[in-house]
Amino acid sequence: MDDEVLITGGYVVTMDDDLGDVPGGDVRILNGVITEIGTGLRPGSPDTEIVDARGRIVMPGMIDTHRHTWQGAIAAYTPQITGYGYGPVVLSGITLDHTAEDVYAGTLWGALQALDAGITSIGDWAHALRSAEHADGNLRGLKESGIRGVFFCGGPGPATDDPNPPHPVDARRMRDENFPGNGMNGRLRMGMWLRGPAFTSAERNREDFAFARELGLPISVHVGMAGTADAIPVLQSDELLGDDINYVHCNMLTDEEFDLVRSSGGTITLTPSTDMLMQFGTYPATGPTLETLARNEMVHEVELNQRDMLRLATIGGALVLGIADETGSLTPGKQGDVVLVDMRSPHLDGYGDPVAMLGLGAGPADVETVLVGGEFLKRDGALVGGHIERARELMHQTQDRLRARVQRRERAALQTH
Ligand SMILES: [Zn+2]
Repeated sequence: MDDEVLITGGYVVTMDDDLGDVPGGDVRILNGVITEIGTGLRPGSPDTEIVDARGRIVMPGMIDTHRHTWQGAIAAYTPQITGYGYGPVVLSGITLDHTAEDVYAGTLWGALQALDAGITSIGDWAHALRSAEHADGNLRGLKESGIRGVFFCGGPGPATDDPNPPHPVDARRMRDENFPGNGMNGRLRMGMWLRGPAFTSAERNREDFAFARELGLPISVHVGMAGTADAIPVLQSDELLGDDINYVHCNMLTDEEFDLVRSSGGTITLTPSTDMLMQFGTYPATGPTLETLARNEMVHEVELNQRDMLRLATIGGALVLGIADETGSLTPGKQGDVVLVDMRSPHLDGYGDPVAMLGLGAGPADVETVLVGGEFLKRDGALVGGHIERARELMHQTQDRLRARVQRRERAALQTH
């Protein structure tokens, strides 16, 4: 028997150029796949699950192309840290306190945080993989959450005396064991994060890129943060630029460097809240509009609007992760990755374009319903499933263990002074 979900009477924002917005619109999902978008759709059977979307925006699940998901258990551990401080305090600090079980618990909780916010696909930049067990734990957390996306595997572990270690061959095992054949593992596929020229020697960087490309995996690197080296020119001179690379942050890139990224077919991930929090640059890498700020000029309007931002957060993200044939817009034939945002609250019931109101005021608490592949993962404003309370318990156990380890380290450091 067919499994049908019919979402009715919502303000449907398809993010599909051919379909546009459909006020008072309906979305039919059959066996996990969007089959029809329109008005006045009738349920196909008495068993059809009908979702009343009046007063809600119905939109594609959002896509976060860069998330260190394993950090789900350490929120607010370092609320004032900059990018520069992140290395010693997190990467060489509390990261090393994480066992494989902690990485699993943190990743599961981190992926649930994303789903709760209406993010149905992520690029998980998994940089706490000190052993094969850590990598397996990370992947298990992603899988159990039900989220879609790309598991960017990598990591300079296991712990070694080499101050600049090569990427582990474990990525090969991970690919062969968990992503064989068509490269899919349920809703997940695999990529590799590389340190890139900003964080390793030119020689190691060339080896890293060669390794990822030998494995046939898409690449993600951090570039262009304040205080880091000229990554793009190094990649260019080593002939490493390519359309298989996603560049993250990019705050301090020059116009020439953006041109190199564009002409080589690479993609960019913007990280605006992190940029401000962690001092990665003066403003996000959103282009010429913001250069008026640099020139101290006044303008009547900015070029980017809330609809542009929603486009970046949906179909744009899908293109970056290489999953646009599967998700990123409400298009018949794509997966039923759908989010309902309740727009009836005082802060969202506005005068103008509902999408502008969404961009200006909506947050995770306004996300009422989340479906991934037609499966309800959030409903009536709460995450769904017996695994949620278990995940919360695991996350709290991890926090307790981490607190004990951090305190032990701090005491040991005091004693040596
Ligand atoms: Zn990052």
